[in-house]
Amino acid sequence: MGKNYYDVIISGAGPSGSLLGYLLSIKNINTLILEKEQFPRYKVCAGGIQWKAMKLFPYGIEEIIQRKIYGIYFSRKLKDIFHKRYSEPLMYTVDRAELDDFMARKAISSGCAINFNERIKDFELKENAVKIFTGNNTYFAKILVGADGANSIIFKKSNTREKVKKIIGYEAEVPSKNLNLNCFNGNNLMLDFGGIRKGYTWIFPKKSYLSIGDGGPVQNAVKIKEYLLWFLKNYESVLSRDDIFKKQSLPREPKIRYDIRAHLIPVRNGNAFLCFDRILTVGDAAGLCDGFTGEGLYNAMLSSHIASDSISDALKYSNFKFRDYFKKINNEIYKNIKNSIIISKIFFPSLLFYYKLIKNNDNLFNSCAKILRGEKTYSQVVNKLKLIRI
Ligand SMILES: Cc1cc2nc3c(=O)[nH]c(=O)nc-3n(C[C@H](O)[C@H](O)[C@H](O)COP(=O)(O)OP(=O)(O)OC[C@H]3O[C@@H](n4cnc5c(N)ncnc54)[C@H](O)[C@@H]3O)c2cc1C
Repeated sequence: MGKNYYDVIISGAGPSGSLLGYLLSIKNINTLILEKEQFPRYKVCAGGIQWKAMKLFPYGIEEIIQRKIYGIYFSRKLKDIFHKRYSEPLMYTVDRAELDDFMARKAISSGCAINFNERIKDFELKENAVKIFTGNNTYFAKILVGADGANSIIFKKSNTREKVKKIIGYEAEVPSKNLNLNCFNGNNLMLDFGGIRKGYTWIFPKKSYLSIGDGGPVQNAVKIKEYLLWFLKNYESVLSRDDIFKKQSLPREPKIRYDIRAHLIPVRNGNAFLCFDRILTVGDAAGLCDGFTGEGLYNAMLSSHIASDSISDALKYSNFKFRDYFKKINNEIYKNIKNSIIISKIFFPSLLFYYKLIKNNDNLFNSCAKILRGEKTYSQVVNKLKLIRI
């Protein structure tokens, strides 16, 4: 094979692309990732990794874990605050720039090639290969994988008709060194409801900063950003009140001194493009985000594991239709996404009712904790609540 010929070319070195590159390379599949940015690079993300996602890493990531989260502070527009704690870790936080850089290095160390600063601009399906165009080069691959995120060029070009539900997420990284907000040092996060329709606001603590953001339907983008600005102005004084958290310094003049950035969170529609002859998508490029929480890392990595098996079978049997990939993604991921949308339709219109229920009922909180950890699925909860017929 020539220099620019590969078994597999992956567009994007985010978590889904780098994990897939790693998994294919350890099977000796000749793989190249083309990534438009130079790493490490900033990525708009709260960096929360669900407990259940930890087992999807084929290597340890202890060294880049920033915090282990056991507890959650709940609030409604920064009022009516209560705290719940779970006996096991609910989630881990990471710095996304660091996670992505770490995963890209793991892919390289397993033998995967990565060309940074090289954006895929177009591709054509040929008889026995996919021809891929970047600014400066032309490549050929037996299989092209779109792991290029919410604005995937692979998805956009392949999905000509179907609309995909889009959530928008805003995020600011706030230095926490001088805040001394002990609530977060105690390995808690915060979730605030009621400030925006069909969405929520979060504070995820890292070692030296807080990721503060919110997200909801893209149609409400202006209001979602306005609420985040309000939240950023007010959270410090509220969280520093003695009656809420015992020992901490009072903030002086709360000022906004950081950038707010936005990014889309795509939620799959069952008829949208997923895979085709020689072309498949994983992670955000396939719209595999959770329709209730907006999280996408777990599904992104799960889709890469599934894709890795399907790709090695495709190469082995020279069958590039990827029907098994379509079936597995539907069964193992999309079913749960559909239920996440049902849960969001049940939860948000009766927010106050469920808020009080979680506040006063540890069993319900424990069920939510089990969903977060991945010990329970949305389907089990929907069935249990017997609300599925609503
Ligand atoms: C505000 C916000 C907060 C979030 N918080 C969480 C959270 O706490 N937990 C969680 O699980 N999920 C969270 N998510 C979702 C999560 O960020 C995504 O699901 C996750 O990044 C998906 O990974 P990916 O590898 O599929 O795509 P991405 O991480 O988007 O990676 C895509 C990569 O492809 C590259 N690329 C794009 N186009 C091209 C091209 N044409 N050629 C070459 N390279 C290209 C990009 O530079 C990028 O590196 C959040 C999202 C937002 C917006």
